[in-house]
Amino acid sequence: MRLLSSERFADHLTPPGHPERPERAEVLRRVALEWAARGHVLTEPTPADEATLALVHAPEYVAAIRETSGLAVRLDPDTTTSPDSYDVARLGAGGVVDGIRHVLQTADDRAVVLVRPPGHHAEAARAMGFCLFNSIAVGAAWARRAGVGKVAIVDFDVHHGNGTEAMFYDDPSVLFVSSHQYPYYPGTGAAHDVGRGAGAGFTVNLPLEAGAGDADLDEAFRSVALPVLDRFQPDLLLVSAGFDAHEQDPLGGCRMTAPGFRSIAGLLEDVAARHARGRAVYVTEGGYDLEALAESLDGVLAVLERAGTSAGAPAMRGDRARGRAAAAAARAALAPYWPGL
Ligand SMILES: [Zn+2]
Repeated sequence: MRLLSSERFADHLTPPGHPERPERAEVLRRVALEWAARGHVLTEPTPADEATLALVHAPEYVAAIRETSGLAVRLDPDTTTSPDSYDVARLGAGGVVDGIRHVLQTADDRAVVLVRPPGHHAEAARAMGFCLFNSIAVGAAWARRAGVGKVAIVDFDVHHGNGTEAMFYDDPSVLFVSSHQYPYYPGTGAAHDVGRGAGAGFTVNLPLEAGAGDADLDEAFRSVALPVLDRFQPDLLLVSAGFDAHEQDPLGGCRMTAPGFRSIAGLLEDVAARHARGRAVYVTEGGYDLEALAESLDGVLAVLERAGTSAGAPAMRGDRARGRAAAAAARAALAPYWPGL
């Protein structure tokens, strides 16, 4: 397992009181250093160049973000830059590329990229929801160009990954699976949004009613996400690991706990082992309670450390009604594309 981490992620500044604050980078850094102390290799990411960012972003948009260098600019009601934001955001996207390169080119098959700001709301030509560049989407597009046949992106952040979805909406080579609170910011992610054209069936939305907890996520993943992933058979698994579905999170309205995230990571490890020779790259997204962020991330890293031996995580106990409802809606929408789902 390779960790990609940098103190530089604290250098993207946000206005006072903003939940996506530099202290999040300090938490990510602390967790990374703790794992490094236990013998895991930590590397500094390299920034993505503009051609790499332009794999998913409009070149004019990349240039517009570059032009905020040295400035504090409000890009949308929630999303601002500070003087170093362009460089910090390029470092995040570059870190995902570095992590993917690592799992493709070495015998090591796991990488975890500990980055802020998050990226999954950023669209091709639009910053939104605290996100500047869509790091995981840049990584997926880079992997495809590097010759990876099929990429699966699983996003368990409490918010729908609208940017990632839009970038691959008509692309059958990138499966996008998102569990999220619904209806909620940013408003997208309905079960009937399944992709378009050749990409129809390759977007899987699992919209969960507020209050969903560990067992609901477990249900939605086991009954829809995992069967679709198993049929898709990804060559590489990428994970948008947001931890704002945690019960302590000040933004999200879900009730997950650290063991729940750990359990989801176990299920995803099994998918990576079955189809992708274990190759999985995790990328942090949201998670705004610092303690919950640290504890949840630490649990996921513990699962990844046991690479290849995580099979058969027991089902999480508890109320599954919201998970069943999300799964039923998704199954109805996806059945035409995945017969017998
Ligand atoms: Zn989020």
